[in-house]
Amino acid sequence: MPKYVYGFTEGNKDLKDLLGGKGANLAEMTNIGLPVPPGFTITTEACRHYLRHGAMPGGLEEEVGEYLAALEARMGKRLGQADDPLLVSVRSGARFSMPGMMETVLNIGLNDDSVLGLAKQSGNDRFAWDSYRRLIQMFGRTVLGIDGESFEDAMDDLKGDRDDTELETADLQRLVETFKGIVRTRAGRDFPADPREQMDLAVRAVFESWNAPRAVLYRRQERIPAGLGTAVNVVAMVFGNMGPDSGTGVAFTRDPGSGRRGVYGDYLRDAQGEDVVAGIRNTVPLQELETINPEAYHELLGIMATLERHYRDLCDVEFTIERGRLWMLQTRVGKRTAEAAFRIATQLVDEGLIDMDEAVTRVTGDQLAHLMFPRFAATGGGHRLTTGMNASPGAAAGRAVFSSERAVEVAGRGEAVILVRRETNPDDLAGMIAAHGVLTSRGGKTSHAAVVARGMGKTCVCGAEELEVDPHARRFTAPGGVVVNEGDLISIDGSTGAVYLGEVPVTASPVARYFESGLVEDELVRAVDRVMTHADAVRRLEVRANADTPEDAARARRFGALGVGLCRTEHMFLGERRRLVEDLILAPGGKERQVALDALEPLQTADFAGIFGAMRGLPVTIRLIDPPLHEFLPDLTDLAVRVAVAGERAGDRDRRLLVAVRRLHEQNPMLGLRGVRLGLAIPGLFAMQVRAIAAAARQVEGARAEIMIPLVGAVQELEIVREEATGILAEAGVEAAIGTMIEVPRAALTAGQIAGAADFFSFGTNDLTQMTWGFSRDDVESAFFGRYLDLGVFGVSPFESIDRDGVGRLMRIAAEEGRRARPGLKLGICGEHGGDPDSVHFCHEIGLDYVSCSPFRVPVARLEAGRAAL
Ligand code: PEP
Ligand code: MG
Repeated sequence: MPKYVYGFTEGNKDLKDLLGGKGANLAEMTNIGLPVPPGFTITTEACRHYLRHGAMPGGLEEEVGEYLAALEARMGKRLGQADDPLLVSVRSGARFSMPGMMETVLNIGLNDDSVLGLAKQSGNDRFAWDSYRRLIQMFGRTVLGIDGESFEDAMDDLKGDRDDTELETADLQRLVETFKGIVRTRAGRDFPADPREQMDLAVRAVFESWNAPRAVLYRRQERIPAGLGTAVNVVAMVFGNMGPDSGTGVAFTRDPGSGRRGVYGDYLRDAQGEDVVAGIRNTVPLQELETINPEAYHELLGIMATLERHYRDLCDVEFTIERGRLWMLQTRVGKRTAEAAFRIATQLVDEGLIDMDEAVTRVTGDQLAHLMFPRFAATGGGHRLTTGMNASPGAAAGRAVFSSERAVEVAGRGEAVILVRRETNPDDLAGMIAAHGVLTSRGGKTSHAAVVARGMGKTCVCGAEELEVDPHARRFTAPGGVVVNEGDLISIDGSTGAVYLGEVPVTASPVARYFESGLVEDELVRAVDRVMTHADAVRRLEVRANADTPEDAARARRFGALGVGLCRTEHMFLGERRRLVEDLILAPGGKERQVALDALEPLQTADFAGIFGAMRGLPVTIRLIDPPLHEFLPDLTDLAVRVAVAGERAGDRDRRLLVAVRRLHEQNPMLGLRGVRLGLAIPGLFAMQVRAIAAAARQVEGARAEIMIPLVGAVQELEIVREEATGILAEAGVEAAIGTMIEVPRAALTAGQIAGAADFFSFGTNDLTQMTWGFSRDDVESAFFGRYLDLGVFGVSPFESIDRDGVGRLMRIAAEEGRRARPGLKLGICGEHGGDPDSVHFCHEIGLDYVSCSPFRVPVARLEAGRAAL
């Protein structure tokens, strides 16, 4: 039988899979001698067993019993002992942090007898009864599934205008009876008096909370696998609610917003557990603890320094002070903003804690992309309403909405929204995901809103206390009596905390400017520059860009692209040139067709020369025309109506066009006459393009052309085009590699043959995904992908991130068989996936030579290619 329970002295920080993050780190802190209340962890394996079978694994009850007995022996008191009770907390803790998504129950072990013992031992009746009412409330909500409002309403009725700290013992005793009554009527059972039963039920509830809707949603958003399960930590209670010399707090070893060194955190006197994160009362900055309790404050700073050195990273901690004595309840490597991630990574290098290789792995492409987002212009637009806390950077403008549901609804119509709440809780998750930004009037930088928004890379301003938020009336009131109603436009600046009425214009970020100009403007940009330089030095994958114009090509080059991996030539046939293409299509025979092609050729030559000029010295892969011809013709219905209305007077051209449109109409154009099929069906079309490429290459010094044939499924197709192209190039005296895209499954499966006629392969993963799954790339995302994501058919759209098992397998086959047939065959990717971090790692793994993505994603791909190599 596996071991399902670990004491804190038995675990360590590397056992996160088994003990969850919280359990592993509690063990680690215990082992390095920090003051952690004793306890034990029930493993994620037990949770997985429970979720699979709906029952606890055999032997678990006894094992928990042994660890509980050891804990009781150590503490010198038994769980729920009437005259001096041991109380415990039962806390969730998964492999990956899921703030507030799962359950926790505190004060387990209290009942009508032990509450008296606790009162006697603590000499504090009020505290004992407050702890008891908290237990029934949390237990009722979490374990028995009673909605929290029933308890809150009862408490509000009792409080009247008073603060919760002003409730007296007699009030709390009455509240306990009321709460027990609520349990009886709402759950149809009595609140269990037996301490062990309380504990066992709480453990079960924590396991079940793994599948609570908000936890499922959070996992999907954060791409956390659904099968991991959570561990449960049973920890001896220490109390922050024992009076003014007690309290609880959250702290960071550096500012998680900016990465700056200093003391960052929130402290709440005479409070327990989640009071801080829930934003129930306003906290004080951690520095004030120095006045309240200098000894505990300095001890805490010492511990935080130890933790940073030990984990070699920014840590966040939760602590409690019980009657002046400090206890550590949690630590973990802390979430941080993108800006802080880059700053901290390079600071730690300078402090000698990590090397540059490690610094590169400490930041992500998504964080870099976030830093490239525009910010608000320093001056201009918008009336400043107030300033809150800068909880998560970026600039966001949108319509104010006051509930999670409305956020989802309005955002669903394609409108940008800002979710405005007094404070958020885990039930607001869907709204936070849907919103462009989050604004709260209460809570500090460690509040739920701040932590979750930072994790999502979403702009957030929190604790804007001057705003009076009225969620029922769907409005807030700002200083000066300005009222903002649902639907009004507001803007929030997550870097400064400013809140504006109206839509404020935005400007480029310094990081985007750096990629444009190379200018290192400030410390953040210097950190980005150091990380990028190192990523470039270690990466094996080359990064190119998909660019169809000289401007895009030039930008991509500034952003660090080492070539164009895909120049789509079809846009060059639009606009004024559409008429020439119509002529080409309408041409009845060879001569007229040639006239049309001759007219297009110089235009194409100029297009290519422009791109070669922008990319002088670097390779440019030009893909011959791909989309179906009907895309260049008028819409069938419009044209038919035009011809019908004109009747006898309809022009000859329109009539001929109508015939052509009818002739070319396809039920399934994506699987029809496009790509190489078009090149073979219209003689002279590809030849014209190749002649234009050759002519442009001769005009531009340093041009390096590569010619790419789309949609090939059989080597014969490629051989025919190749032969013609080779002849044209030889005649022009121009050298160019000729390769193919791999975007039809058959091409991947016959890659060994195709390599015989190709100098390079470039994976067109947009079409390859479309044809492997049989999903129309143009329609499918709206039709049923949401449902598929909900059902867990896939965790992320296969059009966004490469489906490793299916599409990825075809890529592997093609890469291996292609290289076997032609050693040194150059391999790249030019589908949208080329700029997706996970897909870049996959391309590295299967040995591609380059990825090609849109110019703005080039820095992201460079960084991820570096990370993949480490
Ligand atoms: C592809 O299919 O992945 C590709 C790059 O070509 P397009 O998107 O132009 O079809
Ligand atoms: Mg394609």
